[in-house]
Amino acid sequence: MTDETPGESPDRSPQAPAELMEELEEAAGTDPSIQKVLDRLVERLVDVLPVTGAGVMLVDERQRLHFVAASDDTMMAIEELQNTLDEGPCLEAHATGEAVAINDVEHDQRFPLFSPRASAEGLGAIFVFPLALDGDRLGALDVYRDTPGPLNDEDLQTAQVLADVAAAYLVNAQARIDASETVARLSHLHLHDPLTGLPNRTLFEERLEQAIARARRSHLVAAVLFADLDGFKEVNDHYGHEVGDELLCAAATRLASALRPGDTVARLGGDEFVVICEDLHEEAEAERVAERLTTALATPFELSGGQRVALTASLGLAFSGPERDTTRALLRDADFAMYQAKHRGGGHHQVLNVAARSAADRRERLERDLRHAQDRDELALAYQPIVDLRSGELAAVEALLRWDHPDRGRVMPDVVIPSAERTGLIRSVGEWSLRQACLDLRRWSALGLTVPQVAVNVSALQVADPTFARTVERVLADTGADPGSVCIEVTERAFLVDTPRVHAVLEEVQSFGVRLSLDDFGTGYSSLNYLRQFPFHAVKIDHSFTSALSTDQVTRSVVRAMIDLGHVLGLTVTVEGVETPLHLEEVSALGADHAQGFHVGHPVAAEQLAAGLPGPAVLLSAPETG
Ligand code: C2E
Ligand code: MG
Ligand code: MG
Repeated sequence: MTDETPGESPDRSPQAPAELMEELEEAAGTDPSIQKVLDRLVERLVDVLPVTGAGVMLVDERQRLHFVAASDDTMMAIEELQNTLDEGPCLEAHATGEAVAINDVEHDQRFPLFSPRASAEGLGAIFVFPLALDGDRLGALDVYRDTPGPLNDEDLQTAQVLADVAAAYLVNAQARIDASETVARLSHLHLHDPLTGLPNRTLFEERLEQAIARARRSHLVAAVLFADLDGFKEVNDHYGHEVGDELLCAAATRLASALRPGDTVARLGGDEFVVICEDLHEEAEAERVAERLTTALATPFELSGGQRVALTASLGLAFSGPERDTTRALLRDADFAMYQAKHRGGGHHQVLNVAARSAADRRERLERDLRHAQDRDELALAYQPIVDLRSGELAAVEALLRWDHPDRGRVMPDVVIPSAERTGLIRSVGEWSLRQACLDLRRWSALGLTVPQVAVNVSALQVADPTFARTVERVLADTGADPGSVCIEVTERAFLVDTPRVHAVLEEVQSFGVRLSLDDFGTGYSSLNYLRQFPFHAVKIDHSFTSALSTDQVTRSVVRAMIDLGHVLGLTVTVEGVETPLHLEEVSALGADHAQGFHVGHPVAAEQLAAGLPGPAVLLSAPETG
């Protein structure tokens, strides 16, 4: 106390502070709202202490004090006067952290502005106790009497104890509220998509896991519907991201409203939404949900900028079951089915096609294995002879890639090359083929065997890669192979991609002295133009023509024209697919320079080829094994 002396306390209710505290604690326990506890506090203060009224003031962010609980309206005068006059016992107690007593308001000198006005409001004595905890000043607990006179020591102590209890309670309650609000906010943020407010991937996966477990127990089925908006990217590009976002929100709302109460719709990201449908007795029920979702999107969206956007979605459906009993598997398969739906042109739903799924699985496994094929020494080259039709001698050998898979046996290039292209392994696989062919060329030469040329196939992706020429240069340097004995076979498909770049790459490769040959000629990409423009030395007529040579006059004329064209352009012409003596006779008669095919020789391992060199007669070797 900073003023006055304690006096006698008048009669009052005999309740001890300990009991009041217990009561407050109980109130806090059963009803943790701050307001209710404070209301109870002021109500009981008036019973416990010899006072007329009581109140609790809290300080706001502008350091002004406000009553948050008051036993009567007179208390409000205390607040108002102090805030207008900027003077008074509560401000003082709050500022100093000390209790303030005005035993006789009418004759008080300490607050010359405040006290006369307070007295006029009917206040006889005012006692203020700071609300503070660990140095944090929260406000003040005030009591007043309508008649002057001090509080005795015991009452002063009781009031201060109650003020401390209230402060502790306030701090704890606020901390609890802050903490629970923070937890709620964070968990919402953590589990929801900020744009649409829908559950995000984390929450979706959690719910799906539960749905799968329930389906397993109940012997019913859970379905995942994977929806991807068709052409959303174009909307985004055309109208901008804000419109895109608005559209996503609108689509989310429509999807959500088309569902049954227990179903979950979540946004995985971008324009991908997923729905979980539970307790299905038959798959058709989920298909009906898919139809409802499709219908929900069917009406064009009217956006706030006045745009009218029509939208469809591709939906994929997959069902829980032994094959799909994890969130990962179920989501992956619904995604896969969605791609199948997209493939059909969008705007549809598609139930997972299990056969296509297993084919994709096999392909994925193969792609994984291919990553290790090189390290594990599983790649090999088979060499197929190419003969000079005039001399009958070996003109070249073509290197053909083989992969000896530990479980599947020999995997042919029609599988390996697309896998390598999809996985980006084509660069290293391609380099391996070239290097191995150059090394074999050196080895044969060291053995005194004559192999005039080795042809190595390269894929369209390789020649579109600006680093390809560097790779060829490096391999030639590393292996010491004679560039003039190396031929690079480029498939016609290479000319589907950015031709100026391919042109530049091929020009550079040719500048090393390497020969270039256009492979698969005539298979349909009208490469006549390229034949003229690009620095080719040779052209290979695809084997699909050869088989029809003896039966089809038109084919024969076409092949003749292709051979003549090649010659006009100064190219060496090889005909592939020579499988019979008749084929050999015919391609010879048509004027081809070289022939390749099973009749001339099957692809064989490097050692086998070496054993049969050099006479063309012995080239008629047995098919490769493996
Ligand atoms: P390609 O360059 O046209 O190679 C000729 C293909 O025809 C080879 O198939 C060969 O085994 C096959 N063949 C040979 N003689 C005959 C015959 O008389 N009749 C028939 N019907 N076919 C015959 P393979 O080895 O399966 O290779 C297929 C294709 O894979 C090759 O076609 C080539 O484009 C590509 N390829 C092979 N090795 C590589 C490589 O290391 N890298 C790249 N990028 N592609 C390669
Ligand atoms: Mg080839
Ligand atoms: Mg070919």
